[in-house]
Amino acid sequence: MLIGDTVVLRKAGEIIPEILGPVVDLRDGSEREFVMPANCPDCGSELRPMAEGDVDLRCPNARSCPAQLRERIFYLAGRKCLDVEALGYVAATALTQPLEPAEPPLRDEGDLFDLTIEQLLPIKSVVRDMDTGLPKLDPETGEEKVVTFFANLKGEPKKTAVALLENLAAARQRPLARIIAGLSIRHVGPVAAAALAREFRDLDRIAAASEEELAAVEGSDQGSRPRSSSGSPRTGTAPSSRNGAPPGSASWRRAARRTRGRGRWRG
Ligand SMILES: [Zn+2]
Repeated sequence: MLIGDTVVLRKAGEIIPEILGPVVDLRDGSEREFVMPANCPDCGSELRPMAEGDVDLRCPNARSCPAQLRERIFYLAGRKCLDVEALGYVAATALTQPLEPAEPPLRDEGDLFDLTIEQLLPIKSVVRDMDTGLPKLDPETGEEKVVTFFANLKGEPKKTAVALLENLAAARQRPLARIIAGLSIRHVGPVAAAALAREFRDLDRIAAASEEELAAVEGSDQGSRPRSSSGSPRTGTAPSSRNGAPPGSASWRRAARRTRGRGRWRG
């Protein structure tokens, strides 16, 4: 099968589509073979599996790959995590890889709660497609779309800038489980995050925990034990896990930095 092929698709089972194969007669010569990239398209790092036995290749540059940071910030701001409504994909792009200024306002998640209006106003950035991460092109000129996302033409703050800072202030109250889930630690989704929050109730304690202690936490998918022992809720957030380390606090900042470059909790 080649990129650009017309394919025969059928319904396999209830919903899942199955591709039976290409329609070779419809090829016009523009089709091309898929070639797995060897390097990250954004930062150039050599792609590799993150652990022995993994089949998927990833960019190992978790600390400073701009594409990874952009996606992590967007995820962190999502409804299931910090719920920062004004921080959508365009804003995440603007904050992590602006055209101007040369130094991005966010070098990692830890900078998020220190943002100021003075940092937001001068930012210029391209608009990226949420699905592909590629810059969107102006249909008329064919050039990349550039926006001044936070300031109007007079350089005054737009509503989005004010809303972003207000949303961030409110996000400091989010429960610990959602804060942990937002840190993009591999294999720690909402369920494992809720379990970690219940068990440790504090980000510093999680960061200081041994591998054995982490592996013993119910809901952690690495070395998790049977889930029948405590009868506590599996999802959502236990009231007791409310704020061991509010976002923006020193603990949170340390955790945000510490998880970088650390692919997973080992268990
Ligand atoms: Zn990269």
